[in-house]
Amino acid sequence: MLLTGTGRLAPGGPSPWALLIRDGRIAWIGPPADAPDGQRVDLGAALVTPGLVDSHTHPVFAGDRSDEAAARLEGGAPYTDGGILRTVRATRAADDVTLEALVEARLRAALAAGTTTVECKSGYGLSLTEELRHLYIIKRVAQRVPVRVVTTFLGAHAVPPEASSLDGYATHVADEMIPAVARESLADFVDVFADAGFFDLATTESVARAALAAGLGVRLHAEQLARTGATELGVRLGAASVDHLEQLDAAGVTALAGSSTVATLLPAAAIVLRDRLPPARALLDAGATVALASDANAGTYGGFGSMPLVIGLGATLLGMSVIEALTAATSGGAAALRHPDVGSLSVGMAADLVAWDAEHEGAFALHLGAVRPTRIWIGGEEIDLGT
Ligand SMILES: [Zn+2]
Repeated sequence: MLLTGTGRLAPGGPSPWALLIRDGRIAWIGPPADAPDGQRVDLGAALVTPGLVDSHTHPVFAGDRSDEAAARLEGGAPYTDGGILRTVRATRAADDVTLEALVEARLRAALAAGTTTVECKSGYGLSLTEELRHLYIIKRVAQRVPVRVVTTFLGAHAVPPEASSLDGYATHVADEMIPAVARESLADFVDVFADAGFFDLATTESVARAALAAGLGVRLHAEQLARTGATELGVRLGAASVDHLEQLDAAGVTALAGSSTVATLLPAAAIVLRDRLPPARALLDAGATVALASDANAGTYGGFGSMPLVIGLGATLLGMSVIEALTAATSGGAAALRHPDVGSLSVGMAADLVAWDAEHEGAFALHLGAVRPTRIWIGGEEIDLGT
């Protein structure tokens, strides 16, 4: 199949353009006059981008914490593990059918908004049985929704109420939960909430080392609540990504710039918490690889289907150019997920593309959150958007 257009193939494509899809991959890109034969689909002047890559979400939960967000914004309780444990209670009480329906609706919302690869974390179960149940739910939903799913085990999200200590629970995660997750091939990555009041550097390292020993990748929630040094720990362990970074300082920026660890920024959660904004400009100027992701979750930002907004926030709030923000939400996310065949439009990459109801990528800023896909392809297959 040959896609053609007179508009922008962003970032960096020719205009007018033609793109040949063969066996689910991009086989050729160039001007239409030079295009090989193929069944032509003309996209006119529409902006066309790679499918968006949302490299940080927490979709497996039940319950509603909107009341908590409202109270926090009125100057009430700060963000602590108490909120996470409220979601853990509601999620443990939800049966498989209920949870699966919630996860499926969230992934379909993400896909309909242009996300073609999504990372899904567990982490609201916090027991071996519950965490495995949540990972199996992600696996079953991933078979029904055509989005590409990368799965992360986040047993070290908070310490459950029945655990006697942080150290004891971290040892349980490292010695029993991670081997079980690996044995059943339920996750690609292990994540740890490495922050003040959650997992300290010693317990984070023990969980991360268990992940690496089990053949799983590592990613960390880092530097959201306090500057802890979790960034340098992630770099030292070869983490694929450290995520949040609202409190990151110049030394942390330097550490990331000299590493293969991606800096993943989550501006929607930062503004809902009225937090500091992460140092996106400094990270880019220093040469770090930056990803933008939604952090859609139960308590600090609930927006599945929000990656167009997140790109707009990167460009308006974080000091990134629109192209930098779009790149961070596509190839940056792919780098954060170590998924090298998605996130950019070049020969050999998976044919994951989105045509938008816009003509220029500047619409992600100008129409903040209101740019919508008109057509989506994943692996060269067009997705039925039901419109
Ligand atoms: Zn998160």
